[in-house]
Amino acid sequence: MSLHLYNTLTRREEAFSPLDPACPTMYVCGPTVYNFVHIGNARGPVVFGVLASLLRRRYGGLRYARNITDVDDKINAAAREQGVPITTITDRFAAAYREDMAALGVAPPDIEPEATAHIPQIIAMIERLIASGHAYAAESHVLFAVSSFDGYGKLSRRDLDEMLAGARVDVAPYKRNAGDFVLWKPSTDDLPGWASPWGVGRPGWHIECSAMAEAHLGATIDIHAGGIDLQFPHHENEIAQSECAHDGAPFARWWLHNGMLNFGGAKMSKSLGNIEKIHDLVRAHPPEALRHALLSAHYRQPLEWSDGLIEQSVRTLDRLYGTLRDLVDVDAAAVIPAGIEAALDDDLNTPQAMAELARIAGDARKAVTDDDKRRLKSDLLGAGLALGLLQQSPAAWFARGASGDDDARIQAMVDERVAAKQARDFARADAIRQQLADAGILLEDTAAGVRWKRA
Ligand SMILES: [Zn+2]
Repeated sequence: MSLHLYNTLTRREEAFSPLDPACPTMYVCGPTVYNFVHIGNARGPVVFGVLASLLRRRYGGLRYARNITDVDDKINAAAREQGVPITTITDRFAAAYREDMAALGVAPPDIEPEATAHIPQIIAMIERLIASGHAYAAESHVLFAVSSFDGYGKLSRRDLDEMLAGARVDVAPYKRNAGDFVLWKPSTDDLPGWASPWGVGRPGWHIECSAMAEAHLGATIDIHAGGIDLQFPHHENEIAQSECAHDGAPFARWWLHNGMLNFGGAKMSKSLGNIEKIHDLVRAHPPEALRHALLSAHYRQPLEWSDGLIEQSVRTLDRLYGTLRDLVDVDAAAVIPAGIEAALDDDLNTPQAMAELARIAGDARKAVTDDDKRRLKSDLLGAGLALGLLQQSPAAWFARGASGDDDARIQAMVDERVAAKQARDFARADAIRQQLADAGILLEDTAAGVRWKRA
């Protein structure tokens, strides 16, 4: 079997083959940097990062671009509120995003283009769209004329007439058609703006991705990925802009969309508050457990996010690192097993890969001969490598309690143990005490309640 990926454009799983067999191209829509990002925004980078490393080992190369949107009305609003230039906001939160991704074990893309560094390319693409009759200037705006592109709606499978019938009535007067979208808009003096043939202004969001994908990956890219929430209108509009700017050449050959995280299920722990920002989550939990949790469901399915899910991932990793700790004297290098490659070839089936990982660990625990121990440790490390897991030493994993950032997580476990005792669930309480003891945390019963300290 070879790599098969579900293509949203055709609604089918298809055998993947890149245009250049030595170097596939991939573009993933990145964050708008005006605040710390939500854990839901990490699912795409984590999953498509697993895909990126698979493509690199399969083809020997990859050109992977993930953009930074650093001009946007939400950024402008944040800058105005805090009385600072927009670059203060965008620099700060682009850096925070890179830190968050690194904490989750997401390797940086090859290219991280920023919209404000591509204004000339954006203007040039808009000029081409106007010249070919696909866009028009009106009242200092430039709009894309959706009726000029027969393929409009092909990704989201929406019918243009139906879309227009459902459009709101308060349509801007300068639009010829209610579905037309903004490529360029005017900026007043208090807003960031660049000189253009249509006056001082700034680009719309959709055109950024089309211009940056063209600048770094060419007219046709192999894979374009992002969250399912971006399918319409963002990705539909990217296709319209790029295909019209390139005489109909296909924009992306494979469209991959990840499902959303749901927060409606199990209640998040009270002691930690409803933590949803990566910046806070990585301080309350081992970041590797967050990565494990994000990969625990198939990427196209919705994922129910909860403290319970995170704790389950912590326990799973405790077991896996426990196995590696037992094999610490066995000399073995990571080799990715065929069963893991086969699971990932099946449209990135990470739950199946994790089942395979658990099976290998089970076999490793039962291994008797040195040869079996060496082979199974190689497989275990290799399986982890393919998923971006198990790459720290067991000692480092179990010593995580030594980091000051883990205080909130330890306190949450202590609270959970108190609650378990009150509920007379002594098995759970003992399990938590043992887990804390393994991490070098000692519990002390005092008149004021349970205190904890590091051994
Ligand atoms: Zn995009």
